[in-house]
Amino acid sequence: MAVTQLKVPYVDLARQHAPLKGDLLAAAGRVIDRGNFILGAEVAEFERRFADLCGTADAVGVSSGGEALALSLKVLGIGNGDEVISAPNSFVGSASSIALTGAKPVFADVDDSFNLDPAKVEAAITPRTKALMPIHLTGRPADMERLTEIAGRFHLYIIEDAAQAVLAARGGKRVGAWGTTGCFSLHPLKTLNALGDAGVITTDDQDLADRLRVLRNFGLRTRDECAEWSTNSRLDTLQAAMLLVKLDRLEAWTERRRANAAYYFEKLSGLPGLKLPFDRPGEYQVHHTFVIRSQRRDELKAFLAARGVGSSIHYPIPIHLQPAAKSLGYKRGDFPVAERQAAEILSLPIHHDLEQHELAYVAQCVTEFFEQTS
Ligand SMILES: *Cc1c(COP(=O)(O)O)cnc(C)c1O
Repeated sequence: MAVTQLKVPYVDLARQHAPLKGDLLAAAGRVIDRGNFILGAEVAEFERRFADLCGTADAVGVSSGGEALALSLKVLGIGNGDEVISAPNSFVGSASSIALTGAKPVFADVDDSFNLDPAKVEAAITPRTKALMPIHLTGRPADMERLTEIAGRFHLYIIEDAAQAVLAARGGKRVGAWGTTGCFSLHPLKTLNALGDAGVITTDDQDLADRLRVLRNFGLRTRDECAEWSTNSRLDTLQAAMLLVKLDRLEAWTERRRANAAYYFEKLSGLPGLKLPFDRPGEYQVHHTFVIRSQRRDELKAFLAARGVGSSIHYPIPIHLQPAAKSLGYKRGDFPVAERQAAEILSLPIHHDLEQHELAYVAQCVTEFFEQTS
């Protein structure tokens, strides 16, 4: 091993924020001076700009990606006795939001793109199915043309879990604009990230947007009139102000991650035993994660760690095999593609602040692993 070695952590939020700190503090200062901490002007401005970005009629700021999913299910009346079809390889938040309404999370297997296989989705539909919840995992849009066609034929809602995919698009149409609602997480580790928890829901249906604004605020239609029981799921003014600072940089950051991915594609393709993600025509991926696959994943992860390269696994345990999912009655073998992927996937550093020499070092270490040991 080299004596002086680079360290390439998987994420580096301090590096992201250092050049923005002046702007962030100034924006926070304006909110502090005005004292409009709850549903202040920055929330409405962020919502308008986010809706424009996605190409939807409206957007409703909420307190997290999980709350975006929960309120979407609630506003569509999904609950006891209903089923919602989702993917078993997502972050657990997709399935837990369904289960917490009283509805049953039903899984369908994914394909090589890490997203729902539309044929498996169709096979999982029952008379109780009310909605599809595709996840745009890794920042790659799910096959929304086919899922929209299926949803139309079976009269189902689509709730997009777009937590990892802001700006991703198919045929020029961005995620969040395909479904009945689009749910985004603005968690610090997402690509448009607040300095804490935050989320946003997009929709083209103005009536739904109005009702979501009521539901995120205790069901209050006015200060004093409560239409129905609900929670406090509001987006903080301070977080909206932070997000407005970052929104101006989002497209440039996304292009940087795409360039990083292009570099990995170029340097790593053809290595024996390594599977790379791929691009399909008409898709605009935003590479929230860059997920490679190897049957010797754990060995590779340790090899990289020994050379100072951070990596991560999104996600090592499929949701249907989680202890929390026990009552759903699934077992190992039910979703063979997702299960195989869970044992093989590894996310390489891809964030937009990586420097060229760091990317080159990561690619060099990965290459060394497969060349040395193949
Ligand atoms: C991050 C994430 C969520 C949850 O978002 P929070 O803002 O942490 O509540 C849900 N689904 C997916 C796919 C995610 O990546």
